[in-house]
Amino acid sequence: TDNGELGFEEEGGTKDHKAGVELLCVVRAVLKKIRRRVLVGDKVLVGGIDWVDRRGMIENIFKREAQIIDPPVANVDHFLVLFSMEQPKLEPFALTRFLIEAESYGIPVTLALNKSELVEEETLVTWKDRLRTWGYEPLFCSVDYGTGLPSIAFILKDQTTVIVGPSGVGKSSLINALRSRTNQLGYLGSKSDSSVDKIGGSKWFEEQKVGEVSERSGRGKHTTRNVSLLPVPEGGYLADTPGFNQPSLLNVSTKSLAQLFPEVRRMLNANEPAKCSFNDCLHLGEPGCIVKGDWERYPYYLQLLDEIKIREQFQ
Ligand code: GDP
Ligand code: ZN
Repeated sequence: TDNGELGFEEEGGTKDHKAGVELLCVVRAVLKKIRRRVLVGDKVLVGGIDWVDRRGMIENIFKREAQIIDPPVANVDHFLVLFSMEQPKLEPFALTRFLIEAESYGIPVTLALNKSELVEEETLVTWKDRLRTWGYEPLFCSVDYGTGLPSIAFILKDQTTVIVGPSGVGKSSLINALRSRTNQLGYLGSKSDSSVDKIGGSKWFEEQKVGEVSERSGRGKHTTRNVSLLPVPEGGYLADTPGFNQPSLLNVSTKSLAQLFPEVRRMLNANEPAKCSFNDCLHLGEPGCIVKGDWERYPYYLQLLDEIKIREQFQ
């Protein structure tokens, strides 16, 4: 329905559509010429389909929604921020940085906490209450013990998700656990096709090989990571590679920061139609500010605000 940037006319195209069929495609030369690279997760118009040989040609790329750079995936519509209770220990400021970075893409963010078997039930309850005041409903899991995985799989439903979090928290383990779950259920192999390889998602939407291009440009070995989208049984896709594990906050400005805290959004919405007197209020005690400093993460807000201010001064 959406005209691509090339002015693609839907009327001329075919509406032939078969769900779950994998096609090996080449990219139309004109797209290459204008350097439009097809990314994993792109929605594309495929023409000249040969259903027997399962081949086609990518003729156009539809407008992208959120695109993230690490890993390079288009149309991501959900972040799963993963931390662990212990090893490494859950640290609230580090967690806040990740949540803010994820929130800055403007897509829904789910928080999951792994290695839950390493702490007492009491600790989980305390954290749950605490994180609720931040505006998150955390999911606890233990990849080692297989607990909490069905709820996570359910949260992934119908979305394209990238898992992010610091190293060592269990991101790769979680991806593998969800993947083997997918394999067991045999999802997405067409019925006549029992190839485990396909079901595992390793060939699914694989990123085009970039080796050739870099040879030609003579820039040596290309370091782009290969990323695939793994279909989850409940519907939706999961990137098979974790995303950023160091939040840069480059997406965040002093103006946008406060709104990336769900508890601030809640304060502002609760007081509808009230607003801070100043449109560009930074909630630092300006007259007529309705965001009081009595929320737990206010000191984190101030710290991040300073950090971003300094960066903006040098921009
Ligand atoms: P990543 O760096 O976030 O991708 O983390 P990994 O998946 O590589 O896991 C880091 C370490 O944590 C590995 O030794 C895993 O075996 C371990 N690990 C993963 N899940 C759990 C868990 O639920 N409990 C415990 N105790 N260890 C886990
Ligand atoms: Zn204010």
